[in-house]
Amino acid sequence: MISRNPCISNLKAGYLFPEIAKRRRAFAETHPEANIISLGVGNTTEPLLPHISRGLAEAARKLGAAEGYSGYSDEGLLALRERIAETFYKGHFSADEIFISDGAKCDIGRLQLLFGAKTKIAVQDPSYPVYVDGSVLTGAAGPWSGTGYQGIIYLPCTAENGYFPDMDLIPEHGLVYFCSPNNPTGAVATWKQLTALVKTSVEKGALIVFDAAYSEYIRDDQLPKSIFEIEGAKTCAIEVNSFSKSAGFTGVRLGWTAVPKRLAYAGGESIHADWARVCGTIFNGASNIAQAGGLAALEPEGLQEMRQLSDFYLGNAQLIRSALQKLGISCVGGDNSPYIWAKFPGRDSWEVFAEILEQCWVVTTPGAGFGPAGQSFIRFSAFGHRSDVEEACKRLEKLTR
Ligand code: PLP
Repeated sequence: MISRNPCISNLKAGYLFPEIAKRRRAFAETHPEANIISLGVGNTTEPLLPHISRGLAEAARKLGAAEGYSGYSDEGLLALRERIAETFYKGHFSADEIFISDGAKCDIGRLQLLFGAKTKIAVQDPSYPVYVDGSVLTGAAGPWSGTGYQGIIYLPCTAENGYFPDMDLIPEHGLVYFCSPNNPTGAVATWKQLTALVKTSVEKGALIVFDAAYSEYIRDDQLPKSIFEIEGAKTCAIEVNSFSKSAGFTGVRLGWTAVPKRLAYAGGESIHADWARVCGTIFNGASNIAQAGGLAALEPEGLQEMRQLSDFYLGNAQLIRSALQKLGISCVGGDNSPYIWAKFPGRDSWEVFAEILEQCWVVTTPGAGFGPAGQSFIRFSAFGHRSDVEEACKRLEKLTR
């Protein structure tokens, strides 16, 4: 029979979220009376708001008539690319620098094809698992060494460094994944911090893949929402973003990647041209219905709805954060992000996860699943119905530590 890709064998058994789901199922089987509430995964729970929902429905209806039918849309609807360039980059990007995707996660996976297996990869520690797992799949990292993947440069983000890593660790000519607002810590990098990141990356010839999937949760207008607000970023960064958490499109699927035309590899070749080539080769464009939904989301009523939706989840975050603080648990995040990062000093995070599940019937995410520096932390997600979040907060009071 055919041999397995050795890179797949290098992946640690079980992606974090299926592992959590497995443990939740096992608990539910032995405790059928438990009415479990999840504050674990980052999946949206609230219905689409009316204007955006109408945009989707109308697009689906149009496809049913000869005059409204459309097929492949390749790099994405021009109107949507223009609207994204205008709304998120204030016109500093042209429409052809915006590539529409079926979501940020898919693009993060595809982007690695540009750099190959010899690239040095740095990630914030803790970080969204896809950066690391995707690097293992392309052969740029792995196997698992017990505390982390070989070949990955972990950039510890801790309370001591204000959740912003030491710039001396950025690898020369490497790839740096940077997420702000951060999943899982909820920390948002300041102007000064992102300026340091851009400056270091330019000096070291490193490329930043900036994940701005939670940028619409930023309420403090002193905080940058995009890496491209920082001077010089167009020579060293790519940005991925998504409608998943802002418009509730986790199931609809729509995102984009902004790639500056002037961005070049060490040999001077265009990264933009290669990205167009990769997308044209292995991606056939986002759903035209989803794109119409994205257009509706960027109209004034849609923008208001996205604000309303993210306000709702931020309201949940505040409830969780104050419930934890009342219990004397120190935590960060939740003010400009939907995640709360709670510290349980000296404890194993999978053990704390099990304790919260057993004592409170609440599913969370163990920090260790996001990287070595996540040990002793738990991530609480604010994605949930209000009544569930309120009930979960009440149950957390039962936690004996
Ligand atoms: N980036 C981060 C940091 C995320 O947390 C997530 C989803 O949880 C994604 C990207 C995935 O976004 P999408 O739904 O657009 O694939």
